[in-house]
Amino acid sequence: MIVMTPGAGAAEIAAVRERLETTGVHVLVMPGELTTAIGAIGDPEGVRELGLEGMPGVDRVVPISRPYKLASSELAHHAPTSFAVDGRTVGGGSTFCLIAGPCTVEDRDSTLAVAQTVRAGGASMLRGGAFKPRTSPFAFKGLGLPGLEILAEARAETGLPIVTELLDTSHAAAVAEVADVIQIGARNMQNYALLEVAGTLGRPVLLKRGLSSSLEELLMAADYVLKEGNERVVLCERGIRTFETATRFTLDLSAIPWLKLHTHLPVIVDPSHASGDRRLVEPLARAAAAVGADGIIVEVHPDPAAALCDGPQALVAADFAAFAERVAAHAALDGRALA
Ligand code: PEP
Ligand code: MN
Repeated sequence: MIVMTPGAGAAEIAAVRERLETTGVHVLVMPGELTTAIGAIGDPEGVRELGLEGMPGVDRVVPISRPYKLASSELAHHAPTSFAVDGRTVGGGSTFCLIAGPCTVEDRDSTLAVAQTVRAGGASMLRGGAFKPRTSPFAFKGLGLPGLEILAEARAETGLPIVTELLDTSHAAAVAEVADVIQIGARNMQNYALLEVAGTLGRPVLLKRGLSSSLEELLMAADYVLKEGNERVVLCERGIRTFETATRFTLDLSAIPWLKLHTHLPVIVDPSHASGDRRLVEPLARAAAAVGADGIIVEVHPDPAAALCDGPQALVAADFAAFAERVAAHAALDGRALA
């Protein structure tokens, strides 16, 4: 919809109409009492690129259709997407995925031990980073390929599907071989080349919201994966930057019901990175269940004080089973059973 200024004359209106018609859209001129509005009905992409805001007599261009397409719940009235990861259902409304594990694969023994602990506690999948995006280049960046081998062993021992991050396109084949779900980290949400590669690997993609990204941007990032023909995308709210510094990030809980209205994709919550504080993880996990999330992803460590990364937010492994039981009880209130 192009809204003209009150002083726009017939020649200016005609010029906008002609310009719009070059893109093949149907043009509808609607004179009002004060201003004229011009509707452009059809594919909005061409219209966006016309730069109509700069034309004489144009006050503003108001997009009516949404900028994300494949992720949109408007897409041919798309039913909620759900898919199985080795028998665990993600999305669809009747399951709650509990993804748990260390922030980082630090060594074989502790990773296998945490894997056994979270499996016994009812986890749906095991998380753990072999390639870590670190804010400082001098911090521990993960074990890399040997870390992937440890994850493969954990999978063989526990039967838990593996969720691990793809940080760089050059690791794509190696990560895809071990990962049952490929994680795209918050810092890479708008790494479009990486998203396109992730879309071609034949694995579900867990796409984390960027630290300073809007929900519209998240859905447009999801479109990058979806357009490669990969429908198995799960979105993750993991906290955003706000003025508040008491918590590591601010968990945007309203993102979950908003996303449920605007996209067909499943949505999970990461209360660990959002809060940065293990004492807040359970209340936020319960809140995630209450607002309709399809699951959570949490960090767990046998001895968080000794963790190489994100210790303060890691749940103590010995406490995991009780945590999982209480969160599952909250998910059950919404009719969801652990996946
Ligand atoms: C992670 O889950 O390991 C991680 C690094 O999280 P984020 O990308 O959300 O910071
Ligand atoms: Mn972490």
